[in-house]
Amino acid sequence: MSRAFGERLTIEPLTLADAGPGEVRVALAAVAVCHSDVSYADGEWGGELPAVWGHEAAGTIVEVGADVGFAVGQRVVVTLIRSCGECHRCQRGAEIACTASLDRASPLTDADGREVGQGLRTAAFAEQVVVDASQVVPFDDEIPMTSASLLACGVITGVGAVLNTAKVEPGSSVVVLGCGGVGLNVVQGAALAGASPIIAVDPQESKHDLAIHLGATHAVSPADLQALVTELTGGLLADYVFVATGAPTALASAPVLAGAMSAIVIVGMPPTGVTGQFDPGSLAGENQRILGSKMGTSVIARDIPALVTRYLDGELELDDLVSRTFPLEQINEAMDEVRKGTALRNVIVFDDA
Ligand SMILES: [Zn+2]
Ligand SMILES: [Zn+2]
Repeated sequence: MSRAFGERLTIEPLTLADAGPGEVRVALAAVAVCHSDVSYADGEWGGELPAVWGHEAAGTIVEVGADVGFAVGQRVVVTLIRSCGECHRCQRGAEIACTASLDRASPLTDADGREVGQGLRTAAFAEQVVVDASQVVPFDDEIPMTSASLLACGVITGVGAVLNTAKVEPGSSVVVLGCGGVGLNVVQGAALAGASPIIAVDPQESKHDLAIHLGATHAVSPADLQALVTELTGGLLADYVFVATGAPTALASAPVLAGAMSAIVIVGMPPTGVTGQFDPGSLAGENQRILGSKMGTSVIARDIPALVTRYLDGELELDDLVSRTFPLEQINEAMDEVRKGTALRNVIVFDDA
């Protein structure tokens, strides 16, 4: 079955398989709409259709397959990070790049028994998912499901880029280009790391107040940026520049903001085919680094419980990151707002949430 991206079609009924060995079935309470869902649905990154997207979720385990160390009734964050824990990459702490057990048949089929894609290994724009047990992490009962869902992607991607990928030191100067759902979590991560100044940048001034609330020392539009970075760093320029947007203009502006001994950290995901230009002489002469950061280089069983503790201690904001909640029936509206960039995190909630 071949479909065009953007085409609206109805496939009923969809069947979800039982949890197999090593898998869990989770009844979802909340799933956030991430910009990656929009990019995939719009065909920016290729892929097969039809598929169900959604990958930033929280819910309750309702079935466990064989050889699974979780129990029915546990509340869990559901992520897209499926890992074996044993391969070369997992042993290096790079579960996000696990080379084993990644792909398997989708648990979703249509009425004729044909496979329907499990988008981002999760397919969480649905009442239930069947995922590998490595993709879920139990969490404390005191967290609202809507807030917990954000821990699956946006929060770990942003905070992890600072704490895991870049390992920002206290007192470092940080520029964050883009204050979307991920960029604001880069700001939170920079604050947790003790960075200063933390300069948040977004053309939408409506996002500046929240950036300050989350720990930015300054929030500005791109036009004001170069002079401010020069002034605040005494001419040294930034120690870290996080590119937390897929916008090519942000990527292009990063090198002129970065000082000697700095790192440019690429967090945002531009459409396939976008390229950037860097001056290798400057990189070598100024001892600069370019770091890619996928999902904050997160080890979810380690990082999500740590973030839960930070949230319960009042050090990490989750609740205020939720822009609006929607029933599943209004998912197209929820996705349109994310597409336009007017929403931080729209969250789909289910009846018994
Ligand atoms: Zn995501
Ligand atoms: Zn692995």
